[in-house]
Amino acid sequence: MRDSEDGVTGGGESTRAVRAGLPEPVKYEPTLPGPVFAAHYHLPGEPTGPYTYGRDENPTWTRLEQAIGELEAPGREDVETLVFASGMAAISAALFSQLRAGDAVVMPDDGYQALPLVRAQLEAYGIEVRTAPTGGDAQLAVLDGAKLLWIESPSNPGLDVCDIRRLVDAAHGQGALVAVDNTLATPLGQRPLELGADFSVASGTKQLTGHGDVLLGYVTGRSGAAMTAVRRWRKIVGAVPGPMEAWLAHRSIATLALRVEQQNATALAVAETLRQRPDVTGVRYPGLPDDPSHKIAAQQMRRFGCVVSFALPSRERAERFLDALRLVDDATSFGGVRSTAERRGRWGGDAVPEGFIRLSVGAEDADDLLADVVRALDESA
Ligand SMILES: *Cc1c(COP(=O)(O)O)cnc(C)c1O
Repeated sequence: MRDSEDGVTGGGESTRAVRAGLPEPVKYEPTLPGPVFAAHYHLPGEPTGPYTYGRDENPTWTRLEQAIGELEAPGREDVETLVFASGMAAISAALFSQLRAGDAVVMPDDGYQALPLVRAQLEAYGIEVRTAPTGGDAQLAVLDGAKLLWIESPSNPGLDVCDIRRLVDAAHGQGALVAVDNTLATPLGQRPLELGADFSVASGTKQLTGHGDVLLGYVTGRSGAAMTAVRRWRKIVGAVPGPMEAWLAHRSIATLALRVEQQNATALAVAETLRQRPDVTGVRYPGLPDDPSHKIAAQQMRRFGCVVSFALPSRERAERFLDALRLVDDATSFGGVRSTAERRGRWGGDAVPEGFIRLSVGAEDADDLLADVVRALDESA
């Protein structure tokens, strides 16, 4: 997909992804220098930056932060990114660095499964938490007087979508900040800052890095007091990624455009195939033209993700289906190059039917994957 706003590196997203965060070429140095393993740096005299102590800064993070920033907010110099040890570390940093006792925050009630734990912790600190569903822009109804609006669109695992710009306008109109969990879309699928959000927060564990071998998180936001508070939170809590993880993530981002292109195209094909089946109900994929999420998704997303959700008639049937799959691992998480699926109800917490399945489409050939899914459906019937 080409983009006109960035003429420097060429407008294409693959081009941007393969070059994101690379340093200027230095003769005899590698294109992407290896991980810098350092707890401390030589630091004679006044202890000023850029590199003082390994919990505060690391050159491998700096390059990764630059790369993510170029994808989340191409061409913008006023934006900074901070990487974290996991998506939850990034989410906690954004929330706990901005909120104080007595503040109110609006969160989705159909978002990532650890959000109820976050809610309990926020409430323990005297922060009021209000929740509403993602779909139908229902969070608008409970926004009054809130300090921060937390959006997850598309929501995980239900794949509902809200009108981000509309919610941002309402929140900003009353002085509230807005954070968007951009994990499912990835920055190639959606750019929350362009839609007006103050923060794009994500787990890099999923499709951003895409190989199921790294935990990572990040917060991207406009430079200023809010991001300074996020940076301070990272230093206090110390939820920092290891240099090896940061480097693996940066290396993996080079193939992000290739992976999302293939995985998301196959996800659409899988959703279309599932919809033909009488034994499958509730197929959701924001890229399906008649999906309830599609209209708004098409306005604000560039790609619709690699996750398809649907339901089989019972828990037993869902378990037999998962057992029968050969190219799809029965595992949690999503976004990896190898397809995964799970019966979401096994965790408890999500309001989903017993036979509800979240399928993450990998980079296998579409024909192979479709054949495997159809065969597993037939065999498990
Ligand atoms: C996985 C996930 C997270 C948490 O990320 P971790 O890297 O597992 O800590 C947050 N939000 C969404 C939408 C996720 O899918």
